Amino acid sequence: MSKLPNISTSIFTVMSKLATEYNAINLSQGFPNFPVDEKLTTIVAKLAKENVHQYAPMSGYVPLASKIATLIKNSYGRTVLPETELLVTAGATQAIFTTITALVKNNDDVIILDPSYDCYEAPVLLCNANPVRVPLNDDYTPNWESIEKACTSKTRMIIINNPHNPTGKILSQSDFEALESLLEKFPNMLLLSDEVYEYITFEQKQISAHTRENLINRCIMISSFGKTFHVTGWKIGYLIAPQQLMTEIKKAHQFLVFSVNSICQVAISEYLDIVTITEIKKLYQEKRDYFRELLKNSRFELMPCEGTYFQVASYAAISNENDVNFCKRLIIEHGVAAIPISTFYADGKDLKLIRFCFAKDKTTLDEAAKRLCSI
Ligand code: PMP
Ligand code: GLN
Repeated sequence: MSKLPNISTSIFTVMSKLATEYNAINLSQGFPNFPVDEKLTTIVAKLAKENVHQYAPMSGYVPLASKIATLIKNSYGRTVLPETELLVTAGATQAIFTTITALVKNNDDVIILDPSYDCYEAPVLLCNANPVRVPLNDDYTPNWESIEKACTSKTRMIIINNPHNPTGKILSQSDFEALESLLEKFPNMLLLSDEVYEYITFEQKQISAHTRENLINRCIMISSFGKTFHVTGWKIGYLIAPQQLMTEIKKAHQFLVFSVNSICQVAISEYLDIVTITEIKKLYQEKRDYFRELLKNSRFELMPCEGTYFQVASYAAISNENDVNFCKRLIIEHGVAAIPISTFYADGKDLKLIRFCFAKDKTTLDEAAKRLCSI
């Protein structure tokens, strides 16, 4: 008997496979297709011949943890203690899985806001806990009233994703005030804040949950170098948590991976000395604006995009079919792959919206837009 009877192969795998099968331009799964910074690849090439190939310490390569702490200080003005409050993880997925496994018990409730990224529900179910899906408002802001109604003394955790995949939305100051007052009312509740796109924000920077005084002791913040440095295949990220939670998280971490791939840790540690983190936002803002401009005269209606490298678009003016079928037809007949937004909802709500990833080189965006504009 399956432990996850209602979970199937992720839509990102399905769409990427279909894109390959039909030789379509893949704007579905979120990964960059332009070269990684040469400074980073040079570091990796140099390191390949050095003594960096054995286990790293369980919590992370020590210089890397200390440089992450410096990055956090420079980005948010917050002091994080690398030995007790930071953990290097095998990407955000492992950080999320490990956190949930370590902190959520049998029959606890975990609030997940719909639409949501796909890696939250399975670990909750594997803990014999209950995912409680609460829809966001139509403009993708959280509905704090319905969230509060869904919370009880059984609620162990709320998961937020800021900036948000797939909608590109950023939480506001008043969202954080509402979140803080919610946590005040439910003292057993923890906050898991998935901030893998923390450095991919445009007109405004997102508020990071771990910088809020009222949240800091109950917040696990998760980030991904895969997103920040265009190396999604490296599967490396980190989490920040207060010491009492970190102690529990590390107990699970040591038996999931023990320690993260050593050469990538050393490489990122050296790269952090030379990279300008603010360049990332500029790079993606240009891509977002370029892609939006290319699609301006298409029949797709573009939704706002405040962060991430995803553009949501409505195809309501083109077709009435459901978004999964529309995406399949888009691949087969028009040679462009996208992600149907209904797959981010527990109930498969179909709003005729699809997600394009614009983390692509100019040629790819040009050709994809040409095809999309001809529909
Ligand atoms: N959270 C969100 C919102 C994501 O979009 C992704 C995409 N990969 C992840 C987590 C997982 O990140 P990683 O590849 O570092 O595991
Ligand atoms: N985060 C990526 C996306 O949203 C997918 C990563 C994956 O395939 N697991 O497209």
